[in-house]
Amino acid sequence: MYHPDRIRHPDSCPALVLNADYTPLSYYPLSLWPWQTAIKAVFLDRVDIVASYEREVHSPSLRMQIPSVIALKQYVRPSEYPAFTRFNLFLRDRFMCQYCGSAHDLTFDHVVPRRAGGRTTWENVATACSPCNLRKGGRTPREAGMRLLTMPIRPTSWQLQDHGRAFPPNYLHESWHDWLYWDVELLA
Ligand SMILES: [Zn+2]
Repeated sequence: MYHPDRIRHPDSCPALVLNADYTPLSYYPLSLWPWQTAIKAVFLDRVDIVASYEREVHSPSLRMQIPSVIALKQYVRPSEYPAFTRFNLFLRDRFMCQYCGSAHDLTFDHVVPRRAGGRTTWENVATACSPCNLRKGGRTPREAGMRLLTMPIRPTSWQLQDHGRAFPPNYLHESWHDWLYWDVELLA
């Protein structure tokens, strides 16, 4: 029977990596390993195979379906605070301008401007659309007569994960769905 997996190139068969509690090891970025790493981990007995692609790989002595979902045998404690990156900052602010709520033309705004000593930190950078950024210029929100929808904070990994459920990655293999609880799916 035809199945798209059979002709899939192995390099397009990443394995979703779950922690020992069967939650994704990370959401942002989604924990994916290339097939070689996944198969190596299977042979080192570090992971259990939860699901597989139809696609097989061969060696002279072995024939094996590429794992599509694997679970670590040993629990890894997730880091409490996520990295301060552009993507994570957008995610904290739900890809929304923190002044007007627009989702378009997003940039970053130093709430206290840099020339006034404002630093590039979770607590002083907010997602802002270009028009709001331009309007605010090098002023504080009070000077510009603008109000932030939410105060910028350093989010926990849990908070980002919670926000992230509304923004699934582009590619999701069918076998991953049981392990990723995206709100969009629940709403569909
Ligand atoms: Zn705006």
